Amino acid sequence: MPTPLRVAIIGGSISGCTLANGLLRHDHLEFDIFESKSSFQERGAAIALHTNALAALRHLGLDVDELLREARANKRDRLQTIVGCGEHKGKEFMETIPGPWGAGRQQLLAELIKHLPKDRLHCNKKLVAIDRGYPDSSGPLLLRFDDGSTHTADTVVGCDGFRSKVRQLILGQENAANAPVFAGFWDARGLLPTEQAVEKFGIDIIDARADQLTAVVGDGSFILSGPIDNGQMTFINVVGTPPPGWDGSALKTELNREHLERAFRGWDERFVKGIVDCVMTSGPGVIFNQWESAPSPKYFNGNICMIGDAAHATSNWLGQGAAMAMEDCAVLAGIFKDVKYETDFQLVYQAFDQVRHGKRPEMVIEQSRLCGQILTGQMGLDPAAVANNNTQAKRLEILSFDIGEDVIAAQEAFHKLRDEARRLSKS
Ligand SMILES: Cc1cc2nc3c(=O)[nH]c(=O)nc-3n(C[C@H](O)[C@H](O)[C@H](O)COP(=O)(O)OP(=O)(O)OC[C@H]3O[C@@H](n4cnc5c(N)ncnc54)[C@H](O)[C@@H]3O)c2cc1C
Repeated sequence: MPTPLRVAIIGGSISGCTLANGLLRHDHLEFDIFESKSSFQERGAAIALHTNALAALRHLGLDVDELLREARANKRDRLQTIVGCGEHKGKEFMETIPGPWGAGRQQLLAELIKHLPKDRLHCNKKLVAIDRGYPDSSGPLLLRFDDGSTHTADTVVGCDGFRSKVRQLILGQENAANAPVFAGFWDARGLLPTEQAVEKFGIDIIDARADQLTAVVGDGSFILSGPIDNGQMTFINVVGTPPPGWDGSALKTELNREHLERAFRGWDERFVKGIVDCVMTSGPGVIFNQWESAPSPKYFNGNICMIGDAAHATSNWLGQGAAMAMEDCAVLAGIFKDVKYETDFQLVYQAFDQVRHGKRPEMVIEQSRLCGQILTGQMGLDPAAVANNNTQAKRLEILSFDIGEDVIAAQEAFHKLRDEARRLSKS
C-alpha cells in the first residue's frame, strides 16, 4: 500500500475535529491536528445545530443520532420570535419556524473527538509559520510551532478560527482582509437551572418550561433563550447594538449592570432584573463584541487552505457559523476522496474555492447581519412593518440546504481540473 499523504489540520475545535472525522474514511490520507491550547476545549454554553449542519455531519459519515444522544442535545420544537416591550409587546414579531437541535459545546466537541486516534491530536502546538517547498520547492510543507518544534506535511488546512494564522499565510501578512471586522453588535451570556429561570423571568415573556427557543426583540436589544442539557439548564444570550462611544475594536469588555439595564430600558422591570441578575452571576462576566470576516479574495494558496471561521466567520444571528464549517468539511472530505498525489491538493482547493468561496458562507454573513439589524428593532418593532422583508424565507432556504449538491459540484470541478492538468503535462 502506498504511503498515505499527510494532512496537517491547524485548530482542534469544531472545524478541525469535524474535518478529521471525514478523513477517517480515507485510508490514503493520514492527519494530525495541532491545537494551540493545552487541551481540546470549547468555550461557551450551547450551540444550535440546524438541519443543514446535521446533513453535513451525515455526509461526513457521522452517526448523527448517536452524536445528538451522547451530547445530550435537545430538539427544540420551534423558534418563536416575539416583541418584548412597547405597544406590540407579546405579539409574534416573525413567523415561528422549526427549532434547531441544541447541544452543549463541550459535549459536541467530545463527540467529535471520540473516534479520532488520540496519537493524532497534539495540544500546546501554536502554529507560527509554514515554510513552503521544504526541503526543495516541489517538496512538502514544514510547519513551525511556537515551542520550536516542526512538523512536515503534504498539505495544511487552517481551522484556526476568526483570528487565523493560516489566513495570514494564505492572504499575505499585510492583507487588510486578515483582520475580522466588528459586526455591529455586543453580546453577553448566562446559564442557569431551568427551575430558577422560571422563578426569575416569570412566564410572561419567556416560558423556560417550554421546549422551544424564544427570541425576544426590543429597541436596540434582543434576548435568545432555550433549554440545554435535556432541559435541565436554560441559557440566555442578550445582544444589543452599541451605545454611543462603544469600542467595537475590543474582543471583549468587562460586564456591568448599568450597561445591561440601559439596553433593556422600557422593558418589564421584574423580567429585566431576572435577566440582568442571571447574566451578571452565571455567565463569563464579559461582554463580547460580535465579529465577522472581512471578504477574502480566496480561501487557499497553493496547497494551503482555510475553512470554518478562519475563512468566513459570521455574526451569530442565524446560528450558522459552525454549520458553515461543517458544510466546508463535507465538501473538502468529499474531494479528498480522490486525491492521489501531493500535487492534487492545490486542485482540490481550487475546486473547493469554486464551490464555496463567495457563495453560501458569504451569503450567510450578509443575511446574519441583516437579521441582527431586524432583530434588534432597527427597522421598528411593528410586526406588520417587517413582515414584507424576506429574511425569514432566506433563513429557511439556508437551513433546508443539503450539502450533497456542493459535494458533487466540487468533485466534478476537481476531476475537470485534474484532467486538464494531466492533459497539459502530457502536451
Ligand atoms: C456567541 C456565539 C454563538 C454561536 N452560536 C452558534 C450556533 O448556535 N450555531 C452555529 O452553527 N454556530 C454558532 N456560532 C459560531 C460557531 O461557534 C463558530 O462558527 C465555530 O465555533 C467555528 O469553529 P472553528 O473550529 O472554525 O473555529 P474556533 O472555534 O475558533 O476554533 C479554532 C481553534 O483553533 C485554535 N487555534 C487558533 N490559532 C491557532 C494556531 N496558530 N495554532 C494552533 N491552533 C490554533 C484555537 O485555540 C481553537 O481551538 C456562535 C458563535 C458565537 C460567538
